[in-house]
Amino acid sequence: MSTLDAAHFHNDEAARKMIEGLRWPNGPVCNHCGETQRRYPTKREGRFRCGNPECRKDFTATTGTVMESSKVALHKWLTAFYMMCSSKKGVSAHQIHRTLGVTYKTAWFMAHRIREAMREGGLVPPMGGEGEIVEADETYFGKTEEPHVSAQRRGRPYTRSSGPRDKRAIISLVERGGRVRSFHPGVADAHNVAGIVRDNIARETRLMTDESRLYIKVGIEFSSHETVKHSVKEYARGDVNTNSVEGYFSIFKRGMRGVYQHCKEKHLHRYLAEYDFRYNHRVKLGYNDMDRTLEAIRGINGKRLTYQGTH
Ligand SMILES: [Zn+2]
Repeated sequence: MSTLDAAHFHNDEAARKMIEGLRWPNGPVCNHCGETQRRYPTKREGRFRCGNPECRKDFTATTGTVMESSKVALHKWLTAFYMMCSSKKGVSAHQIHRTLGVTYKTAWFMAHRIREAMREGGLVPPMGGEGEIVEADETYFGKTEEPHVSAQRRGRPYTRSSGPRDKRAIISLVERGGRVRSFHPGVADAHNVAGIVRDNIARETRLMTDESRLYIKVGIEFSSHETVKHSVKEYARGDVNTNSVEGYFSIFKRGMRGVYQHCKEKHLHRYLAEYDFRYNHRVKLGYNDMDRTLEAIRGINGKRLTYQGTH
C-alpha cells in the first residue's frame, strides 16, 4: 500500500480525525479561550462547544488555522500538503488543480496557505553555537517590481542602477549539516545583512562567508569570521567554505525556474519559507515524505491567511 492510499487522503472524516489527533493530542482545546476541560461535542461532527461560561464559542480542529473557513474537503487539503512536502522542487497550482479537481484559483490559494503553514513562526532559537559553523551568503532572483532604497540612501535622490539593486535580494544562513533560514530584505546592504546575521546566529558560532564586504563589520562580533575568496577561485580552505548555502541557492533557483516561473515579489518570502521548510526536514535530517507532511500540518495553527493577504 502506498502512502497515498491511506484513508485520510480519500475521506474527509478520516482526514479530520488525523488533524484532530495532531492538533489535540490530549483532547479538544478551545481555540478562542484555551479551555481544555469544559467542552462538549455538538451535533455536527467535528464541531465542539466551549463550556467556559465566559466563552461558549464553537470550534473545530481547523479554527484559527490556514484551513479555516475553507470549503475544500480536508482530505484534499491533506493531499495538497503531501504533494508540496514530498516533491523536491515544489508543486504548481496547476498540478494541484488537476490532481484535486478544485479550481485553479482555489489551488493557488491553498498552495499559499500551505507555504504559510511551513513558515517558521514565533520565537525561533539562534542558529549555530559553540564549535558550530553557519554559512551566510546573498543571492539575487528575479527583478524587483519597485526600486528599493537602502537605509544609507534614504533621503537622497534615488538613481537607478543596473546592478543587483534592481533584483530581488535573498540572504540565507545555513548551519553546516543542519538548517537554513532565508530572508528577502529590500536591499542586501551592510545594514540589513548585519541585522539579519546578528538576530539569527549565536555569537559563539564560526561564521563563514565569501569575501563580500557586507559581512566584514558584523563578522567581528562572532567567535570567528572566516572567508573564502571566490574572486581568486578559492572555494574551500580546510573546512572553510560556503558550499552548503550555495547548494541551497541552487535548489531554490532550479525549483523556482522549473515550477513556479512567475512569482510576485510580495510572495517571495512565502516561496522561501517553502524551500526552507523542505530543506529543514530533508531525508538527511531523518524525515521521510510523510514525516515532513505531518510537520507542515503541525504548522497550521495561528497562521490564518486572508484572501486579501495573498494578493
Ligand atoms: Zn472557549
